[in-house]
Amino acid sequence: MRAFIAIALPDSARAALADLQARLPVGRPVAEENLHLTLAFLDDQPPAVLEDLHDDLSGLRAPGFDLTLAGLGGPGGAAPALIWIAADPSPPLVQLHARVEAAVRRAGIALPRQRFRPHVTLARFGRRRPGGGEQVRLQAFLAAEGAVRLDPVPVRDFALWQSSLHRDGPVYEELARYPLQG
Ligand code: ATP
Ligand code: MG
Repeated sequence: MRAFIAIALPDSARAALADLQARLPVGRPVAEENLHLTLAFLDDQPPAVLEDLHDDLSGLRAPGFDLTLAGLGGPGGAAPALIWIAADPSPPLVQLHARVEAAVRRAGIALPRQRFRPHVTLARFGRRRPGGGEQVRLQAFLAAEGAVRLDPVPVRDFALWQSSLHRDGPVYEELARYPLQG
């Protein structure tokens, strides 16, 4: 089962991001209901492994916090694969991520050792990367709107999700939700 752990965004934040997506001149926008912040991508895992992980995550203690989403990014180099809005790597977010990763590793799932760059993906380019004209329009959009900053987003829980990939986009299903404290 393809799975990942993520923070779901409240309706108000998703609506604000959808407004931004509607003005994006290029790329394939992520569906509004799918907008999220990934804490760990688990890939395909047997149900028994996810059960163990679920037990562990159920005991995880970490404080709730407010998330700051600000600054568009993605087009590093000539061929961007996606466009995202960055999340402030605040201490509670970094701590939550570290605890989630530790639980994932305890469940026996290997994770790549890469720096945590928290973000919400807004659009993807898929295999067809933007051409010259699209690059120009993208750069103009980023110059005009790249410094966007959302109202603080309250984060009071996170969730384990199943992802099934389809031709017209992924379908995410929440498997379990874990409350944060405070
Ligand atoms: P699609 O792959 O069809 O574009 P998607 O990326 O939204 O859809 P998944 O590939 O199942 O769906 O990914 C679920 C989440 O995990 C997304 O936030 C995605 O960015 C993230 N993710 C997927 N693959 C990786 C990876 N190799 N490393 C880090 N995060 C990943
Ligand atoms: Mg993917």
